[in-house]
Amino acid sequence: MQHHFDAIVLGVGGVGSAALHHLAQRGCRVLGIDRFAPGHARGSSHGQTRAIRQAYFEHPNYVPLLLRAYELWRELEQQSDAQLLFTPGLLEIGAADGQLISGIRHSAELHQLNVEEISRNDITARFPGFHLPDGNIALLEPEGGYLLVEQCVRAHAEMAQRNGAVLDIGAAVLDWSSHGNTCTVTTEQQQYTADRLVITAGAWAGELLRDLGVNFAVVRKHLHWYRVAPHHYSLANQSPVWFYQTPGGCYYGFPQVEAGSIKVCEHSFDTEQFGPSDTIDNPLQLPTDVDPHEQERVAQFLKHHLPHASQDATGHSVCMYTLSPDEHFVVDRHPDFENVVFAAGLSGHGFKFASVLGELVADLTLGSTEPSAALAASEFLSLARLAH
Ligand SMILES: Cc1cc2nc3c(=O)[nH]c(=O)nc-3n(C[C@H](O)[C@H](O)[C@H](O)COP(=O)(O)OP(=O)(O)OC[C@H]3O[C@@H](n4cnc5c(N)ncnc54)[C@H](O)[C@@H]3O)c2cc1C
Repeated sequence: MQHHFDAIVLGVGGVGSAALHHLAQRGCRVLGIDRFAPGHARGSSHGQTRAIRQAYFEHPNYVPLLLRAYELWRELEQQSDAQLLFTPGLLEIGAADGQLISGIRHSAELHQLNVEEISRNDITARFPGFHLPDGNIALLEPEGGYLLVEQCVRAHAEMAQRNGAVLDIGAAVLDWSSHGNTCTVTTEQQQYTADRLVITAGAWAGELLRDLGVNFAVVRKHLHWYRVAPHHYSLANQSPVWFYQTPGGCYYGFPQVEAGSIKVCEHSFDTEQFGPSDTIDNPLQLPTDVDPHEQERVAQFLKHHLPHASQDATGHSVCMYTLSPDEHFVVDRHPDFENVVFAAGLSGHGFKFASVLGELVADLTLGSTEPSAALAASEFLSLARLAH
């Protein structure tokens, strides 16, 4: 096998697979290295689906990136000849003055996005499977929906290979360094060199980017599937993806992707409240058991908000959020090495952006002379903000 490349991508998960694709598409001779095969369930990009939306309540600066992300997901669908993005709409419910509803309205207003308020009567008529608590507002984003997460990662990796990218799968990276114009990556079996290095290591960012001095906290999160009748929460009945902000936390879920069940997750987290089993020191030893307290919270949420869902759990999986200190992504060049670029700390909301982060990382890596719109819109994600 060749041992010198134009670029190496360390970590071929959600963002790394996209970076590999964008670099290969631009004619870069690129190597992707991962301990596990694309679409695996040991990192943060697995579990059937990921929600995607545009009126971003977390911060309006994400919106231009999201609009580009949609374009790139559609482009990937065409290239790979597979549907990856589904847009049944997204129903978001919370207190009028809460972070969710006010954040959506703010982003929608600033970027002229289509967001519809659904009246109490219309909820009953159009979305009978959802309870609108007193004093809450319901908003519908028609462009909201979901991505098939494993298929997206595999499609990016396959398209990259079609454009000449090389993959070394099953290889754990032990170390990397950069001297002058050359980066060296050492795996358990090989040593590779490249002109440039991209680090997209997900939950392993803290380990591989420790010299940045950023605390990337890793938190265990659960995914649950519950049995539902065929006609409830079905795509055929235009059932949307949904997100609730309640006084007891944030919960979200999907219509039936596989017949007979829906996926439901708790998005909120509080590492102090939920105890040490949720804070992960070694992502390779992620506990896979059900947390009965967490499961009870989800069950109580369902009981009070999704009247047509059963309490009959049919599946469970675990995954990891990698939190940056302010819960916004960190995407930048390494401050000490011009030829090292990283995307880290996606903080539990990054998959929908994977396509555009791949493009952005490729721009940063190749020092594009014509910066893309994504690059121009991404300054708020730079490392420098965390110095303050
Ligand atoms: C339960 C859950 C639900 C979520 N829901 C949503 C959602 O609805 N919408 C949304 O947008 N986002 C969501 N997210 C967040 C999103 O999935 C993540 O932000 C995103 O997938 C992270 O991608 P990544 O590329 O950073 O990490 P990963 O996809 O985990 O990729 C990192 C890769 O690096 C490899 N790697 C690391 N270290 C090494 C090493 N030393 N040697 C070799 N390989 C290495 C790993 O094996 C892995 O493949 C959710 C996350 C979770 C956990």
